[in-house]
Amino acid sequence: MEKFDVIIIGSGQAGTPLCQSFAKAGQKTALVEEKYVGGTCVNVGCTPTKTMVASVEVAYLVRHGHKYGADSDHFKVDLRKVRERKREIVASFRDGSEKKIIDAGVSLIYGKATFTGRKTLEVTSQTNTRQLSAETIIIDAGARPDIPDISGLERVDYLDSTTIMELDKVPEHLVILGGGYIAPEFGQMFRRFGSQVTILEFFGQLLGREDQDVAQGVQKILEQEGIKVILNAKTKSVSQSSDNSISLQVATPDGQIDLSGSHLLVATGRIPNSDQLSLDKTGVKVDSHGFITVNEKLETNIPGIYAAGDIKGGPAFTHIAYDDFRILEGNLLHQQSLSITGRMVPYVLYTDPQLGRIGLSENQAKDANIDYKVARMPMNYVARALELGRSKGFMKALVNPDSKQILGAAVLGVEGGEIMSMLQIAMIGKVPYPDLRDGIFAHPTLAESLNNLFSSLS
Ligand SMILES: Cc1cc2nc3c(=O)[nH]c(=O)nc-3n(C[C@H](O)[C@H](O)[C@H](O)COP(=O)(O)OP(=O)(O)OC[C@H]3O[C@@H](n4cnc5c(N)ncnc54)[C@H](O)[C@@H]3O)c2cc1C
Repeated sequence: MEKFDVIIIGSGQAGTPLCQSFAKAGQKTALVEEKYVGGTCVNVGCTPTKTMVASVEVAYLVRHGHKYGADSDHFKVDLRKVRERKREIVASFRDGSEKKIIDAGVSLIYGKATFTGRKTLEVTSQTNTRQLSAETIIIDAGARPDIPDISGLERVDYLDSTTIMELDKVPEHLVILGGGYIAPEFGQMFRRFGSQVTILEFFGQLLGREDQDVAQGVQKILEQEGIKVILNAKTKSVSQSSDNSISLQVATPDGQIDLSGSHLLVATGRIPNSDQLSLDKTGVKVDSHGFITVNEKLETNIPGIYAAGDIKGGPAFTHIAYDDFRILEGNLLHQQSLSITGRMVPYVLYTDPQLGRIGLSENQAKDANIDYKVARMPMNYVARALELGRSKGFMKALVNPDSKQILGAAVLGVEGGEIMSMLQIAMIGKVPYPDLRDGIFAHPTLAESLNNLFSSLS
């Protein structure tokens, strides 16, 4: 049995910085990682997808260059080169992260960790098995794609969010099961690379958590590019022919449709990796979906065992996992009493245009009986967006009519993530909306659109 002060399971966005903080504080620290340092974000999530989105942006501009007076006759997408660029950037992030961990004095152990007792673990790799123990254990083991129970799916060569990024040829017709946050990014990406794309969403709108006008705005933008979106689509069965094409039988409100595609991407959500950890041996509790139950300080029901990142449920974003690191570092190393209660949850959908979101949606304000007014403006009122030739979408912000504070915003527009972040900064600083309405911003910037957005309220 190898004894450590701290063991961290998973080198995700919480575990990677946390192990370095513990080691630098003089604690004997082990980081156990089954696959690649950097976890989902670096290897199969944010970094590769946004690297590929950058290739798509270039492809789109080249294809539409003639509209700007910059003609290009030889448009062609080489998916191998796109993939190569993605692989190189991922590898550089991963290697940089690994070096920092080792330099900090952490014992980096590759292998799969499973609990064998309350505070003991077994780590199994292809070459050996090690027994570890520690009084403090942090579980940051993330989540993986969820594969729905659809007749025939298990016999089909479907893609998930990881394998689709390893394709070396543009699919002829990509069918996407699921209309959450992963589908619009990949759908638009492959449409712009040249695929025919169909998105099948089980419920009545894309992006189920968003306000209807926001979801419809995204859908309209996708449809304008030729992506077919079928809502209320219940896929009953899937099969693959000898020519590898994939057929789906789908029940819709207009009757059953038979659909055929060259490739199928399953993007129906993610499930936590808690079922891989033998948690019954330690007694750590999970909820009905398998997410590890934690309190506001990320403590599990077993003293000394904590959970961070996607495996504990709640908003599944890199910046949230990183904030979990901040909380655990403060509480465990600096005797603070930090908590996740009431923290802001900004996020961005990286379609073109982006959807940036912060704070309350209208649906949430209504459900919580919160008084609000909505400032709303189409992006084609924004001079900078028109000059860029990128004026699709709209922005809206919810404000409190009495305190004039900004309660939330959705920005579906060019650089929507950056504009949303400006509104977030105003929310952090408790800047009332009239200050943004009347503030002087440089012309022509996207920021100056905030003048007109909030003028729509008076
Ligand atoms: C396609 C895609 C795009 C995304 N884009 C964005 C984005 O743009 N912005 C954003 O904020 N978020 C994005 N996300 C979400 C983001 O990647 C995750 O929220 C984030 O990575 C979660 O980090 P984590 O700390 O929970 O753990 P993870 O990053 O999931 O890491 C967990 C690690 O634990 C390891 N592990 C699991 N079980 C064991 C075990 N038993 N023993 C040892 N190791 C184990 C895994 O191998 C993995 O390396 C995206 C996700 C996907 C799938």
